[in-house]
Amino acid sequence: MLFTIISANTFESHKEIRLAIRLLNLLAPATILFIAVVLLIDPVSQLSAANKTSLGQLPYALALVVALLAYGFNRNQILFATLNLISAYLMIQLGLQVSLDQPNAYVLFSILSILLPINITFIATYSERGLFTPLGLTRLAGVLIGYLLLGLLWSNGALATQLPNLPTNMFEMFFAERFLSNMSAVFYGVALLTTLIYFVTQRGHGSAGVLISLVASLFMFIWFDLPNVSTLLVTAALIAMGIAVLQSSHKMAYLDELTEIPARRALQDKLATLGKRYTLAMVDIDHFKKFNDTYGHDIGDQVLRMVAAKLASVSGGGKAYRYGGEEFTLVFPGKDEAQALPFIEQLRELIANYPLYIRGDQRPEDEKRGAQMRKQKETSDHTNVTISIGVCEKTDEYLDASEVMKQADKSLYEAKNNGRNQSVAAHYKPETPKRRRTRKDYV
Ligand code: GH3
Ligand code: MG
Ligand code: MG
Repeated sequence: MLFTIISANTFESHKEIRLAIRLLNLLAPATILFIAVVLLIDPVSQLSAANKTSLGQLPYALALVVALLAYGFNRNQILFATLNLISAYLMIQLGLQVSLDQPNAYVLFSILSILLPINITFIATYSERGLFTPLGLTRLAGVLIGYLLLGLLWSNGALATQLPNLPTNMFEMFFAERFLSNMSAVFYGVALLTTLIYFVTQRGHGSAGVLISLVASLFMFIWFDLPNVSTLLVTAALIAMGIAVLQSSHKMAYLDELTEIPARRALQDKLATLGKRYTLAMVDIDHFKKFNDTYGHDIGDQVLRMVAAKLASVSGGGKAYRYGGEEFTLVFPGKDEAQALPFIEQLRELIANYPLYIRGDQRPEDEKRGAQMRKQKETSDHTNVTISIGVCEKTDEYLDASEVMKQADKSLYEAKNNGRNQSVAAHYKPETPKRRRTRKDYV
């Protein structure tokens, strides 16, 4: 039988707010950099001609760095977005530092302003694949081919002859006094919509990078008449895309994929920074194997996420990590066992009292029965998971954190042997035990 958790949504309270925060976080570096661009346009225009020329070379060096980073960390979406942006920048630097009244330049400008968003629309839909695969190489060729053709036609002056053939909406501007043609605005509209849909649904650094390249290139055309604007915007976008590559690889190494809380590696780093006084708690879900066997691995995964989310809400200065499997570690810097225990007990009770409504795949045959079943949901057919916790503070007995952790593990096994759903501290014994009494207490 297939099981589903009916109350799964309630695992993640304030889901929309958390989504919005995540999306804003992804765009934070780019936002700061774009604000910097606006502030720098004026001072940069005062630079000497020689300095401006040097500044104009900066995007090429940056693009090389970002492309190598993206390639090295297998972030091909950002690699393609970088190639797209730098190719367009190269054409602007080579062909568009003259008056747009020249036919060759105007046709180049017009076609460039639609080629860029067309490429971005495609790149936004790409999922991560290896670069040196038939698909990867086709995509790479797809990004570059338009620029190669355009460059070829521009360099032998053939574009000028196409001026009479341009449709009128390539001459009409979308904003008065601005350099975005109606035709380009339509392609940018499509690109923006596509990129935003992928950004909101994927919430990844890859789609954030594509969105950043789109915003930079859009404003590059809108403000085309401002001096050095393409250099500044492309520089800002490339730095932000480089940051996105680094952040995504950091996330891969430090965040646990299933539960999205910090993983073992992050715990090791944290343990190395702890001072003289701290408390560690090893947390293990009770009878989790039985839970998996009864409801299946998928429900087991959802329960792991729920437990992780509750543990991550720990107060008292504590921090939660997934140690591995169904085991978690809580770290309380600067606290002894007595100080950490109330916060640990709070979490234990929170999880034990959290009702899991799980239903099988038998659907009610009629509406009335369905309503009845939903009503029953309030009072019956829910289950709970519990956790056991072993707690140990750092004292002189222990040389380092790994010894403290070993002792916490011993206390965890004591908690399991005492009947589970309880915390046992290595040193501190509360006068009224928080744990359930067992027969052992009385013999
Ligand atoms: P105890 O109360 O003594 O801890 O019993 P237990 O069944 O929880 O302990 P045991 O260590 O025997 O079983 C741990 C189980 O956790 C084994 C495995 O099925 C499950 N598990 C470990 N990692 C995952 C995971 O990522 N997803 C799911 N669904 N299950 C996992
Ligand atoms: Mg275990
Ligand atoms: Mg267990």
